[in-house]
Amino acid sequence: MNSKPKSFDELLIQETHIYLCRSVKWTAYLSVFLLVAIFLASMLQKNSLLTLQDLLVLQMPTLCIALFGLAGILYRQPEQHRMGLVLAYLLVLEVAWIYFVVGHYWLTSSYNLLGEYGSLATVDSVTDVLVFTFAISLYPVRRWLLVSVVPLLLVSLVTRLIEIPENPIFALTKFVCLLVIIITGQKVLLQWFRKAILRDAEKQQLLQQFKRMALIDGLTDLSNRRHFDEVLALEIKAAERTGDPLSMILLDVDFFKRLNDSLGHSDGDRCLVRLGEVLHGVASRPRDLAARYGGEEFAIILPDTDLSGARHIAEQIRYELKAAEIPHPDSTLGAYVTVSQGVCLWQPGLDADELLASADQLLYQSKAQGRDRCSTGVAKGEAAEDKVVSSYLS
Ligand code: GH3
Ligand code: MG
Ligand code: MG
Repeated sequence: MNSKPKSFDELLIQETHIYLCRSVKWTAYLSVFLLVAIFLASMLQKNSLLTLQDLLVLQMPTLCIALFGLAGILYRQPEQHRMGLVLAYLLVLEVAWIYFVVGHYWLTSSYNLLGEYGSLATVDSVTDVLVFTFAISLYPVRRWLLVSVVPLLLVSLVTRLIEIPENPIFALTKFVCLLVIIITGQKVLLQWFRKAILRDAEKQQLLQQFKRMALIDGLTDLSNRRHFDEVLALEIKAAERTGDPLSMILLDVDFFKRLNDSLGHSDGDRCLVRLGEVLHGVASRPRDLAARYGGEEFAIILPDTDLSGARHIAEQIRYELKAAEIPHPDSTLGAYVTVSQGVCLWQPGLDADELLASADQLLYQSKAQGRDRCSTGVAKGEAAEDKVVSSYLS
């Protein structure tokens, strides 16, 4: 449950990737639309400017690449590490477009099909649409934006210089102005993009913090009682469904009040933290859950674990706790902190309260029999006393 929140840089890369994939899709759609529109416009012209064959030769490569890319993106969402492939596709699409624009210009101007400056107008309008399409698609990655936009602007510049050689200033001015507009626009958009992602990262962080506060015990870093109750209910449902065994351990620090009284409350807290670490280390399977159930009372859910498995865990807790050597100057049981445990096996048909009541009864039994031990038993829904089947002594 403590999944690490993503860092800002990770989120930025992830969001850039998602955005670029969407943009490439959008660019491919727009390319198909534009090609169809040009095709229809040319075909509907009364004195057809280009033959059907001319048009097909010019349009087919661009159309095929746009459609091929669309199919690829729609049916196989590219993964993050294949970003290079996505961007390479955009470049191929752009080269195909340049082929179309230059070819169109060359054919219409050499046959003088569109009258004075007619070919230039076509090149200008198509390249303008493409330049803005690529610019908006690629603004999160400036070098890719420039790599795709500058060749298109150069095509437009060169055709202008060829078509109107007597006025190079106008062609150059348009080139420079468009480049400046695109670069400044990219900067502004990128700032918004980063800001939106930063807010998202902060939101995720806050969410994680709230989750922690709601489900984790602040002192020991184990799950709190609320989380324990939620997980126990779910594990009981899972065990009902699968028929797998389910056990739990309830444990309580022996003579903790005396420890507090002799060493002070903060040493008492440190003892609980250390005990929490021991429990966390022992309940190590992915579905095991150790929780602080109350003041100095802890509980562990052990899914897919029978009574002998749970008893083994309880023994391990006692062993690890002894090894941890947490001082207890006022215990009648020795120099170090000990715990008493109730180890209980759930039975089909019992609810969480009945299981807890059985475990509590077993814990009580351990206390009554001298502490620093575990009592094991099978839970039953009857009177708590009847639930105790056996007792495990140290
Ligand atoms: P027993 O062996 O029967 O369990 O005796 P005990 O002294 O451990 O049991 P008791 O219930 O009498 O005392 C529990 C003590 O735990 C009382 C309470 O002040 C203390 N306690 C509860 N929560 C905390 C905590 O968060 N920090 C500290 N330092 N002490 C706590
Ligand atoms: Mg106690
Ligand atoms: Mg207690």
